[in-house]
Amino acid sequence: MSNITVQHAIGLIEAISETLTANKDMLNQLDSALGDGDHGTGITTGFAEAVNTISTLESPALSDVWSTSAKVLINRMGGASGALFGTFFLKGVALTKEKTTLSKSDMNAIFEAGLDGVKQRGKSDVGDKTMVDALSPAVVAFKQQENFIDAWQEASTAARTGAESTKNLVAKHGRAKFTGERAVGHQDAGATSIALMFEAMQNYWENID
Ligand code: ADP
Ligand code: MG
Repeated sequence: MSNITVQHAIGLIEAISETLTANKDMLNQLDSALGDGDHGTGITTGFAEAVNTISTLESPALSDVWSTSAKVLINRMGGASGALFGTFFLKGVALTKEKTTLSKSDMNAIFEAGLDGVKQRGKSDVGDKTMVDALSPAVVAFKQQENFIDAWQEASTAARTGAESTKNLVAKHGRAKFTGERAVGHQDAGATSIALMFEAMQNYWENID
């Protein structure tokens, strides 16, 4: 169980979609406090559509999973975060090309490229009260571990802590920027989605045989 196959990659995206869907209302509520209340709807629609489109592909390669997710999230999810989550997957396309499985170090590079892509596209960094506050510590924690089991677990904990840290911050980007000090006390919706995604990936990996 050392490498990620295309079936695992599809399973990981399905697990993400299921977990986000189970938390859709909560994510909409978080986005209502600081934004326009559509984050849960947008992200669950986006990932469900990605899962659906991937399921129509005939013998997809690993890079097809990344490129299809990128395309669907950018085109179908909409909003600031659709472009950002789409960019995350887009950055992994070149790194998954020609590969039939992904090693732990391949995944380190894919996560790192995705994070860099989101930061560049969003012009955001840790402390700005965005998804980057969860994604950045999660990627750091993931890379520090040798094997997938430990990596998903540590990344998941780091993402959760990072998402919770956004409660104390004032927002510098997106719609939440206009809320000023009023944002303090509210957890960022996008960062919460990232924490849920890593929890889903951890859960999936712990339950495969
Ligand atoms: P929209 O703001 O267009 O309605 P969503 O509601 O789907 O999009 O997503 C809002 C989330 O997007 C925020 O909670 C935040 O985490 C993330 N976000 C917004 N702008 C940026 C940015 N510039 N960089 C990183 N993340 C951002
Ligand atoms: Mg919104």
